[in-house]
Amino acid sequence: MIEVTDLSKSYGPIRALRGVSFRVEQGEIVGLLGPNGAGKTSTIKILTGYLHPDEGEVVVNGLDVPTHTLAVQRDIGYLPESAPLYPELSVQAYLKMMAELRQIPEAEQTARISEAVYAAGLEEHLVRPIAHLSKGFRQRVGIAQAIVHQPQLLILDEPTIGLDPTQIVEVRSLIRRLSEHSTILFSTHILSEVEALCDRVIILINGEIKADAHLSELAATSDAVLVLTEAPQGAERTLRDVKGVRHVERLTSPDGYPGYRILGQGAGSAVDLCPAIYDLARENGWPVRELRRDVRTLETVFNELAVGSGSRSGIGGLLQR
Ligand code: ATP
Repeated sequence: MIEVTDLSKSYGPIRALRGVSFRVEQGEIVGLLGPNGAGKTSTIKILTGYLHPDEGEVVVNGLDVPTHTLAVQRDIGYLPESAPLYPELSVQAYLKMMAELRQIPEAEQTARISEAVYAAGLEEHLVRPIAHLSKGFRQRVGIAQAIVHQPQLLILDEPTIGLDPTQIVEVRSLIRRLSEHSTILFSTHILSEVEALCDRVIILINGEIKADAHLSELAATSDAVLVLTEAPQGAERTLRDVKGVRHVERLTSPDGYPGYRILGQGAGSAVDLCPAIYDLARENGWPVRELRRDVRTLETVFNELAVGSGSRSGIGGLLQR
């Protein structure tokens, strides 16, 4: 549904995007994750036709965005970073105006608006002026206008920014519901948002894509954790000799038992060390309490990428709430 190839964008001397390429397939919910200034909004504005790239191709729903801007904009639902709401209008009047701008036939408008209102949970607030709504409800109005024409593709720029924790939970569950019928690309600088909502994450740092993968792929590691009820002599050395092991660290499990973190060759490697470690433990009669493959958190992955790219932001540039 979205195909971006080698996108570059500069603002004077600032290189906001450098050779960005990615795809979003129908039915996916994809998070564009990055710290402040990473280039998320620039990417989204280019995708939605509100900004021209310097170089590169952007195709949405099979249409080249710079050439067919209006047709693309008709087919997508877009929530900009600050939704252009009219505070003096009631929710109902605003959505009616948006339905007309979207050229929804008069006879269908009531049904479409009701569906958007219901999906966004705005039933109780129809006649209230937008100015009287809380920030969370204003955000819902922004989302309702983005879905009133029933787009198959929704592009949301930081949909939960500035909301309190309860509002964040509500807007996230709204996005989850919408993802049942629409393809969704949203930007965020909140790690847990990606973990809560996404199939796939694209990590953007300093205008470059540093990772594009399913969360389970990012979390995958060949590292293993072995916990024993007591530590046998020489176990560490024996573990180090297992094929594919790079390093062995001692650890203590949360319930106080001795154990080892056995690091494999290369981060993200698909090799599972557990079968070999299991055989070794059985041969040596070690009292095994736990043996599992270790996983990396998105936080760890992000920090590795930020450090690798020389970004000063690191995890400090992202929120983990
Ligand atoms: P944030 O999370 O803070 O919104 P972002 O990831 O959305 O950041 P962008 O807003 O795309 O990042 O900005 C990328 C870079 O381009 C930043 O260095 C920003 O200062 C710069 N930039 C963005 N818009 C403009 C502009 N209109 N003029 C000059 N520089 C700009």
